[in-house]
Amino acid sequence: MQNIALLGATGSIGRSALAVAALHPDRYRIHSIAGGSRVAELVEIARNVHPKHVAIADESKYEDLRQALADAGLKDIEAHAGAAAVRSLAEDPEADAVLQAIVGAAGVAPTFAAARAGKRLMLANKESVVCGGALLMKTIAEHGAELLPVDSEHSAVFQCLAAADEKMKKAARIILTASGGPFRGRRDLSGITPEMAVKHPRWSMGRKISVDSATLMNKGLEIIEASWLFGFPEYRIDVLVHPESIIHSMVEFADGAVMAELGTPDMKTPIAVAMSWPERIASGTERLSLAKLGKLTFEAPDTETFPLLALARESLRRGGVASIVMNAANEAAVAAFLERKLSFTGIFDVVTSMTRGFEAPAPASAEEILAVDAEARRRTAEFMAKRR
Ligand code: NAD
Ligand code: MG
Repeated sequence: MQNIALLGATGSIGRSALAVAALHPDRYRIHSIAGGSRVAELVEIARNVHPKHVAIADESKYEDLRQALADAGLKDIEAHAGAAAVRSLAEDPEADAVLQAIVGAAGVAPTFAAARAGKRLMLANKESVVCGGALLMKTIAEHGAELLPVDSEHSAVFQCLAAADEKMKKAARIILTASGGPFRGRRDLSGITPEMAVKHPRWSMGRKISVDSATLMNKGLEIIEASWLFGFPEYRIDVLVHPESIIHSMVEFADGAVMAELGTPDMKTPIAVAMSWPERIASGTERLSLAKLGKLTFEAPDTETFPLLALARESLRRGGVASIVMNAANEAAVAAFLERKLSFTGIFDVVTSMTRGFEAPAPASAEEILAVDAEARRRTAEFMAKRR
């Protein structure tokens, strides 16, 4: 029996993880759940899976959470609130594994906490890899933690590389597939509303990652994520647009052989892979029927219309704080776009200006990463206010 700390339980990934775990009550127990601010949803999940702990990041919701648990007859479940409480679930000695599905840089501290505690870390929160970079990989190695990617492309690459040694990896290329998002094929991105941007053609996801998929920032973040997770330099990571999202990514080896992982686009598969690896369990995902699909299509990404892909490569090559700043500026710009305070293409301008305008050496601790993140958000807010 594996005790799982599920962080970001109320989100899109969190819900899919609960569905996979529910298929295997003999293997997995949801030991604790954490969410951002939605009390009712956390309590509803608590009612179903009866964890030992429930944590809510929003400190002002502590009394509400405690009361709602009591009203639901769940007095034996411990309520906690605040960022430190979320972090402590990630390092709780009673948790064997942490499924980290928080959105954004808010996930940095819990990811580092799980790494330092030597956990099996099933990581959906790509922003914490983008911000954590080399320091995160070093922390994982030093504390004997085990990182299992949940992001579908990285799960695919992980599976393709499972039998490869270091020498084989040094001569390989990663080919990340991208759906192209809802605006694939468009050259003019003016007049795009939040409703249009969050309607993804293939995947059903949280709002922030949906906008990132529409701007292609998501694929940019994934290039950085792949570079750190698998130790590949930026120039050995390609992006290929594949609108059907059936091939989740590929690895090309020195001999020309290309390995791919395919499946129905459903996050329950990579979640199940991360939960059970090196075993395999049922995920509840619909079976792939290639005969029904008939064909798969591919095209090169349009890096002119979608400039954030190239900006992500630039930030990875530059190093230092560039990726942290880019990520923070993007989170702030996407939030402003969703609040209709910034246009869709305004995201490109804000993220590009901020990323190029802030240079500093790479942080030496998770605290320093969060300080850079906070400073970048402050500068981004100031920049957006002046622009209006
Ligand atoms: P979502 O918005 O649906 O859910 C986010 C979750 O994080 C919610 O449970 C929310 O309550 C919680 N949260 C927000 N702020 C928090 C905080 N400060 N402390 C604790 N919890 C907090 O997002 P999602 O689509 O599930 O994505 C989650 C992560 O997984 C993101 O990093 C995303 O990039 C990554 N991811 C998602 C998908 C997908 O298909 N949804 C695919 C690959 C990777
Ligand atoms: Mg992905």
